[in-house]
Amino acid sequence: MSTMELEAAVGVGQSLDELRQTFRSRRTRSVEWRKAQLRAILKLISDNEDHIFAALQQDLGKHPVETYRDEIGVVVKSANHALSCVEKWMAPKKGQVPLLLFPSKGEVLPEPLGLILIFASWNFPISLALDPVIGAISAGNTVVLKPSELAPACSSFLAKSIPSYLDSKAIKVIEGGPAISEKLLQQKWDKIFFTGGRRVGRIVMSAAAKHLTPVTLELGGKCPVILDSLSDPSDIKVAVKRIAGGKWGPCSGQACIGIDYVLVEDNFASTLIELLKKTIKRFYGENVKNLKNLSRIVNRQHFDRLRNLLEDPKVAASIVHGGSLDENNLIIEPTILLDPPLDAEIMTEEIFGPLLPIITLNNIQESIEFIDSRPKPLVIYAFTKDETFKKQILTETSSGSVVFNDVLIQFLCDSLPFGGVGPSGFGRYHGKYSFDTFSHEKAVLQRSFFPELEARYPPWNDFKMQF
Ligand code: NAD
Repeated sequence: MSTMELEAAVGVGQSLDELRQTFRSRRTRSVEWRKAQLRAILKLISDNEDHIFAALQQDLGKHPVETYRDEIGVVVKSANHALSCVEKWMAPKKGQVPLLLFPSKGEVLPEPLGLILIFASWNFPISLALDPVIGAISAGNTVVLKPSELAPACSSFLAKSIPSYLDSKAIKVIEGGPAISEKLLQQKWDKIFFTGGRRVGRIVMSAAAKHLTPVTLELGGKCPVILDSLSDPSDIKVAVKRIAGGKWGPCSGQACIGIDYVLVEDNFASTLIELLKKTIKRFYGENVKNLKNLSRIVNRQHFDRLRNLLEDPKVAASIVHGGSLDENNLIIEPTILLDPPLDAEIMTEEIFGPLLPIITLNNIQESIEFIDSRPKPLVIYAFTKDETFKKQILTETSSGSVVFNDVLIQFLCDSLPFGGVGPSGFGRYHGKYSFDTFSHEKAVLQRSFFPELEARYPPWNDFKMQF
């Protein structure tokens, strides 16, 4: 444990006591407090754009445009949406009461859960930290945010800036790696919201079970693209651009909703590969030592993991584009593989990097069985104009979400729930779904003293049997 982690560990108990006291004081419940914190997040972002650009550059080599799109823009969108809706979300909703209970009134009253623990991941270290915080604050909770230690500049930025802008007795940032995370998990929370991989997801869930703490797990998996044979050349052009942008664009493929592999009919594969190569050249350039607009791999361990996927002797022969590695700068060239063996690790594990396997099928209909026989993904992307095929994808596969004819944009749609199913996670957030995730929906039933139905009480007799 580092000195910083040791200090944080010693202070955990005290910090949590303070947060619980704040929650009990009830000040986080008022709409004024919630709105003030949401405005403070917006101010934190607008005052510190340059710091955020620098931190993302340092941690992941992200271009400022990408940082604006995927980090700053996402947080600003979510905070503004919550600000405009929070009062409506907080209002009690009428519940229909059956005639049997007449006269009475039913209501569903959202109440905050209490003290929330949020684990963020390193690939979008600002937005995936602040987006759930926005939900937890909107719902009137107190929060501990544990940013990822693998994005240290962003983690440190959050730890320094959050106390200067937000209510520091209600929202705290605790930095550190697995040791501090384990210490946090020993505590009693009212909800744990975790973004990360399955291995740690299991650790979180078993720690939560000790205190019967509810959890939301935002995990990953292998997200496929189904590419139907499109007849219009302009549709093909758009599809290829979106696939290339979705694979290599966000954080060099280190994205939970990024494309893992593409399924395509074998007679279309060579066209696809040629078009992807041209698009890669246009988007990112050619020289691996000077690839512009491409984030780097987060650290040596992940770089080596990806290198091993590529250097697997079963896989090497299937590389049809790219494959160069810049070890000093942790850059991996956008790489395309054609039909790597399905039992190789690149096809059994989440890739989470800039390697794109293309899997050929005799008929695109086979993609349904291909996906359905594997663990349920976070999202399925499908480029098709065939309405019957779309229906088949929706009814014969299961995934956190399905997007037709585009990629990644579902993340920006606050009216749709975001989350996985089965091994890609459970629970959902974004917009009102975030508010609900961090709230308890309390059922309230109000009755009058009159009338009184004697038939509901003993002694039982034949007459009462008629009711
Ligand atoms: P990770 O599971 O390694 O780490 C996530 C968090 O867990 C970090 O805050 C980390 O400090 C903490 N942690 C690490 N070891 C721990 C331990 N032993 N005990 C308790 N906590 C521990 O995940 P990652 O590498 O940060 O992210 C990559 C994974 O996250 C991928 O699988 C990706 O698909 C998934 N992901 C999912 C989403 C989503 O929204 N569904 C978003 C981003 C990433």
